[in-house]
Amino acid sequence: MIVAGPCSAESEKLCLDVAASLARTGYVDMFRGGVWKPRTLRGMYEGPGNDGLKYLLAVRDQYKFPVVTEAATTAHVEAVLKAGLDAIWIGARTVTDPFSVQELANALQGSGIRILVKNPLVPDIRLWAGAVDRLLNKGLNVEALIHRGFVTYSESKFRNEPLWVLMSEMRTRFPDIKIIADPSHMAGNSFYVAGLAAVAKEMEADGLMIEVHSDPPTALSDANQQITPDEFAFLISSLCGEKVGSLSDASLEALRREIDETDERLLRILAQRLDIVKRMGAVKRDAGMTIMQAGRWKSLVDDRMKRAEALSLSTSFVRDLLQVLHDESLRIQLSILNKGKE
Ligand code: PEP
Ligand code: MN
Repeated sequence: MIVAGPCSAESEKLCLDVAASLARTGYVDMFRGGVWKPRTLRGMYEGPGNDGLKYLLAVRDQYKFPVVTEAATTAHVEAVLKAGLDAIWIGARTVTDPFSVQELANALQGSGIRILVKNPLVPDIRLWAGAVDRLLNKGLNVEALIHRGFVTYSESKFRNEPLWVLMSEMRTRFPDIKIIADPSHMAGNSFYVAGLAAVAKEMEADGLMIEVHSDPPTALSDANQQITPDEFAFLISSLCGEKVGSLSDASLEALRREIDETDERLLRILAQRLDIVKRMGAVKRDAGMTIMQAGRWKSLVDDRMKRAEALSLSTSFVRDLLQVLHDESLRIQLSILNKGKE
């Protein structure tokens, strides 16, 4: 399970740019972007707020990625559920506080939203397991745990100590829940991300969450640890084998061109059909006929279903398609009728 995207969903442009690059790699299962950022110090960038939900939905629309953001309060949960995002992650700070986790569990109750649970800031396995238990106890869909490392006072080159043993312990406690690693927040520095991702693979993590930004130095949060889309593509293909190459495969490119040309023909034919509809609308209006001619519609559908079957097309697909066309025809003819009355 590969989750990738910027630390903060800073703007629609950033989200769409990063998503375009991630889509090309063919590896990404979920797009992340923080909408409300938990900041240690007042005055730091706190994320785009509710507007960020729209940026994530734009990513889903264009690139078909399920989208995930951090929810830390019941207001966040309500906004995320209302917007219809696919998933939330519960951040390390929130998981550290059982009151907050319980409030979120209550607010999420009854929703099937996919939930990812980060480890708490402190290396206390009971806090992490306790949070998961509070969510499961409400019948919630805890899909994965995110191991993002722990705050310790030991001298370390990492922002958060991996303490991999805690990941293994959580696997024993929750054998049915995936555990993915977040080398970005462990590292705190882009330089160490690939190495930690490789360790995560050796530790049999079920996936990764990685922060990716088009231009990391200008990122409004976690600038030091985000990697570029190219670095991500390189990291992920070296960890998981070549998949990127298949996308530029000549035969796939040729098929894509065929699809493009066929769609162009399809659109021209649609335009032609709707042009006929317009002329029919005028004729019906002038003859004082009603727009809907049920008998004609029924015989048309029967005829087209036979033709669809002969072409081995799915009849339910063709029936739906005809219905969409019919709705559009009625809409056009109604507007012609109304114009005639003006
Ligand atoms: C994040 O993923 O951007 C984030 C704030 O994570 P964490 O809760 O692990 O600090
Ligand atoms: Mn971050």
